[in-house]
Amino acid sequence: MSEYPAASAPFHILVKPIGPICNLDCQYCFYLRKEALFPDHQAAAEFRMSESMLETFVRQQILSNPASRVEFAWQGGEPTLMGLDFFRRAVELQKQYCPPGKTITNALQTNGTLLTDDWGKFLAEHQFLVGLSIDGPRELHDRYRVDRGGRPTFDRVMKGLNLLREHGVEFNTLTVIHRELAYHPLEVYEFLVEHGSGYMQFIPLVERIIGGNNGSGLPILGQSSGVAPWSVEPLQFGIFLSEIFDQWVSRDVGRIFVHTFDVQAGIWAGYPSMVCIFGETCGRALAIEHTGDLYSCDHFVDPHYRLGNILDEPLGKLIDSPEQRKFGTDKRDTLPEYCRQCEVRFACNGECPKNRFITTPDGEPGLNYLCAGYRHFLNHIRPDMEIIAKLIKNRIPAAEIMKIRRSGNPNLAERNTPPRNAPCPCNSGRKYKHCCGADSKK
Ligand code: SF4
Ligand code: SF4
Repeated sequence: MSEYPAASAPFHILVKPIGPICNLDCQYCFYLRKEALFPDHQAAAEFRMSESMLETFVRQQILSNPASRVEFAWQGGEPTLMGLDFFRRAVELQKQYCPPGKTITNALQTNGTLLTDDWGKFLAEHQFLVGLSIDGPRELHDRYRVDRGGRPTFDRVMKGLNLLREHGVEFNTLTVIHRELAYHPLEVYEFLVEHGSGYMQFIPLVERIIGGNNGSGLPILGQSSGVAPWSVEPLQFGIFLSEIFDQWVSRDVGRIFVHTFDVQAGIWAGYPSMVCIFGETCGRALAIEHTGDLYSCDHFVDPHYRLGNILDEPLGKLIDSPEQRKFGTDKRDTLPEYCRQCEVRFACNGECPKNRFITTPDGEPGLNYLCAGYRHFLNHIRPDMEIIAKLIKNRIPAAEIMKIRRSGNPNLAERNTPPRNAPCPCNSGRKYKHCCGADSKK
């Protein structure tokens, strides 16, 4: 048996090669304060993942993951602070330890401000998928995303974005929906489309004001006295997603990818959720710090949720540990009755446990802070998602939804796309190619 036995099922790990260290000081960032986890680190240099730890991690991540495609997801802090040589070495090690039949991919989440031509060349050559953090147009972006001197960062991020485009690096955008930004859905969406984001992730900002700490300076999870003023308002979050969805579903399906919409399309078509937050259980998306300490999840990097260190126990064993299994099943087992009875539970499942800190109308604890928003959004998309689900099941491109909406005939989703010269299934009496199939190239 291998020194590093495979875990029982695929998993995903966010790697923090430089811990929480960042060149920016975004006011809403929950990860910056994780410096408190390492009280013996005196200087920023001590937060760097050593070369031997990198090798141990790369080897274990490849050998322990039963998936045929293993993704390395580099995150921070700001991972580019590690410098290019660190990533060159990571790619070398991946090649060295990758057995036949496995594929390795790399994803890098960055604020984009330190990217140079050399980075652009490297990222393109090694086909890194880059996630660029950008909060929409200048005023909304600079509202919270500032550097350590409190200066705005928009121009530096746009320079990074353009550099990625120039070098042909595949990238998506990650936008944090903070309180003000939530009131500008179409402005944000159109800005991202205009600047070449073909794949968007929208992350709701929910940060709690905490009453105490656990001695390490970190908040005690489960004790909250409210949310920070930059947190998105729950219903406005749902309105934000709904307005973007309406624009997307009428114009951009198949051309622009919005992560939440993609995931929901799969769920409505009857597939398991592609992301942990909408799944019934979780526990297969973990985080590892530069020291080799493994935590249950990126949102639970806290001593209570430290599973162990990969120098002491193999990664696969830590991931399959009873503690981690319980972490994952607790998501389902602690769901309030209010959610169990909810008409959109199948698509929400109470979302992420980190946000479950309000009470239900009948006083049960553990309801998700964003509930009103999710309920609004998921009911809002129902008519279109039911059609998209049929398209997916019938193996018709989801983009057909746009024609179906224009035709006003949802039955078109029931059939396979007819030959271009056949009568149009909308019963207009015209040929399909001159009617609902007018945009079709088939
Ligand atoms: S706690 Fe939330 S983010 Fe973490 S694995 Fe579970 S659902 Fe995913
Ligand atoms: S929409 Fe609200 S009630 Fe329904 S499952 Fe989600 S969090 Fe629970």
